[in-house]
Amino acid sequence: AQGLMNGKRGLIMGLANNRSIAWGIAKALGSQGAELAFSYQGEALKRRVEPLAAELGSNFLVECDVADDAAVDKTFAEIESRWGKLDFLVHAIGFSNKEELEGRYIDTSAENFALTMNISVYSFTAVAKRAEKLMSPGGSLLTLTYYGSDKYVPNYNVMGVAKAALEASVRYLAVDMGKNGIRVNAISAGAIKTLAASGISGLRDMLHWQEANAPLRRNVSIDDVGGSALYLLSDLASGVTGEIHYVDAGYNIVGMKLLDAEAA
Ligand code: NAD
Repeated sequence: AQGLMNGKRGLIMGLANNRSIAWGIAKALGSQGAELAFSYQGEALKRRVEPLAAELGSNFLVECDVADDAAVDKTFAEIESRWGKLDFLVHAIGFSNKEELEGRYIDTSAENFALTMNISVYSFTAVAKRAEKLMSPGGSLLTLTYYGSDKYVPNYNVMGVAKAALEASVRYLAVDMGKNGIRVNAISAGAIKTLAASGISGLRDMLHWQEANAPLRRNVSIDDVGGSALYLLSDLASGVTGEIHYVDAGYNIVGMKLLDAEAA
């Protein structure tokens, strides 16, 4: 394939199935000539990830539960031995117990707070540290966040607090890694019906609300996110780091409900 990502090799973390945001991103990168490796969470997901990777010409799969430091070390050791370098990394991983993605934020348990922060926030810093050793100037990292970091969204709860911390870590990592010419950004995606999002109570209402109130009057797809990810991970975005880039059909810029305004 010819394209923007020719000669670049990258790791995609967080592919679960063909509805995953990671899949939208991987397809966009693959279509532009990137060579891809995939890490998956557990044996059960391997069966789903393998054929998807094969569609993009990859047989480079590594099992990696990011809660396990040794597994994270092993993942990067495998990349080093097979590729010797890394040009980009996509972190599309988040987790919180479903029981706490409904009701009141105030009821969050200490245990799930720590778990959510570890998987959804710290893991990005943990992989950035290992990726840095394999990257040269021009390297690019990307994570996924959501508007519930910035504003209250019903039921998003501890995940919103985690995404706020993730966005702050993007800025700190951008400065740390910027010295070596490596860029770190996040895409803040509008709500999309994926496996992880299905754990959030009231997802259907969120999707309807967004569709009615976004400037583009629609929800976004994993391919919308893939296009923006391709730009941020490619050299086209060589001057962009530390950014939280919204891919949400414009929803975040609206200060007054269109529903009411248009009915009036
Ligand atoms: P998804 O369920 O397809 O992907 C989530 C991934 O996280 C899965 O592949 C899962 O295996 C992985 N994961 C969870 N715990 C893990 C662990 N301990 N170790 C390794 N991997 C682990 O759902 P998605 O919506 O594509 O989620 C990808 C990212 O996008 C998440 O960070 C999510 O918060 C973010 N995001 C999603 C939406 C949305 O509406 N779907 C909106 C904005 C941001």
